[in-house]
Amino acid sequence: MAIQLIRGFKDVLPPEAAVWQRIESTARRLFENFGFAEIRIPVMERTELFARSIGEATDIVEKEMYTFADRKGGRLTLRPEATASVVRAYIQHRLYATEPVRKFYTIGPMFRRERPQKGRYRQFYQINVEVFGIASALIDAQLILLLVTLLERLSVKDVHAHVNTLGCPACRPQFRKALAGYLSPRTAGLCSDCRRRSVKNPLRVLDCKVPACREAMTGAPALLDYLCADCRQHFEVFKSALAELGISYRIDPRLVRGLDYYTRTTFEIQTGALGAQSAVAGGGRYDGLVEALGGPAVPATGFAIGLDRLAELAAGVQGDIGAGPDVFIAVLGAEHRQLAFEWVCALGLAGVRAEMEYGTRSLKSQMKRADRLGAANVLMVGENELQKGAAVLRNMQTREQTEIPISELVARVKTCIGGNADRP
Ligand code: ATP
Ligand code: MG
Repeated sequence: MAIQLIRGFKDVLPPEAAVWQRIESTARRLFENFGFAEIRIPVMERTELFARSIGEATDIVEKEMYTFADRKGGRLTLRPEATASVVRAYIQHRLYATEPVRKFYTIGPMFRRERPQKGRYRQFYQINVEVFGIASALIDAQLILLLVTLLERLSVKDVHAHVNTLGCPACRPQFRKALAGYLSPRTAGLCSDCRRRSVKNPLRVLDCKVPACREAMTGAPALLDYLCADCRQHFEVFKSALAELGISYRIDPRLVRGLDYYTRTTFEIQTGALGAQSAVAGGGRYDGLVEALGGPAVPATGFAIGLDRLAELAAGVQGDIGAGPDVFIAVLGAEHRQLAFEWVCALGLAGVRAEMEYGTRSLKSQMKRADRLGAANVLMVGENELQKGAAVLRNMQTREQTEIPISELVARVKTCIGGNADRP
């Protein structure tokens, strides 16, 4: 049997890949306008980096990582997320030394061994944005502005910002204790994951999707009631900055996110258009992570957009994906194929997307093929045309025909097809 791709992995074929390109270029332009620079990091790191940053008692580290032993016995992992690597690079190259405020974005694949389903893959893609060196909640609000703006520029509708705060090492322990106390008489009713979590990492129970667990959590203590004065102030600044920017949001006390390094602000962008996998992007502040990984005490904040899910949303609103060639050259008689080929190449170099018939087919079947490709024009080249020194360009929409002198073919075709031919 022919070899198939790995379960949970996928190919992005044209024309869908054009949607991805559009998302990526829109994101790059937007982020660069806000002072973000691209950073490119490897897809593989030492396992320890993820264990220490994401947290040992998280789903990702416990059961979702692709980890293997290197020849010399070291353990390596295909990255399940990008923040840890960006932090590693920030520390390793001492990027804080000259200027602690740094803004990065990066785009690439992540790997998690989750149960594959619609919107959930084992290799998926993220656009990540990370800011180092700004403690103010204003920058957290700016991150939401970037997310909302990106989705708006991609014409994605039905977008909701959910926000929460997770407190800090000064106030979260009290909440954790209260939560553990609330959970201990209720563990019997929880799913097996949550029974384990309720001891090792009780905050995780808050975002479990199992109905019985959700039920058990109604009436659980809320972190908002346990915040210290500094965290409360931070959250107030964040909320009023969002209001100032005209961004509507919902406070969601269950939004704890699946990684341990978050502090204070957390957020998620959800949409009703994706079914069960409703989160397009998520992020938050991780003030302790740089120091925990061996760097200086530098506050940081960021987000990750799920590119696969965003592409699904954006594909629905993109009309003209996979536009056909500007010109299809129909060749009448094999002896003219060489000339047609020269024109296809010359047109391509001049920025006109041209395609031709390489085989021997009747004019009728070539016209059919041009139609199927969505060609805007057909240029006919055969004995009659060549004798006259002019080829015929037929506009497939208006059916108008224009004679094009062969001596200035490229330039004339270019003017004839007008606005379409401005590609470099
Ligand atoms: P979810 O709640 O859907 O599992 P998450 O909280 O695990 O998401 P993050 O680690 O915050 O996700 O990653 C940010 C974004 O990456 C998510 O909002 C989602 O759009 C996307 N994402 C995460 N895991 C997957 C996956 N397995 N397949 C496709 N996209 C994913
Ligand atoms: Mg997840």
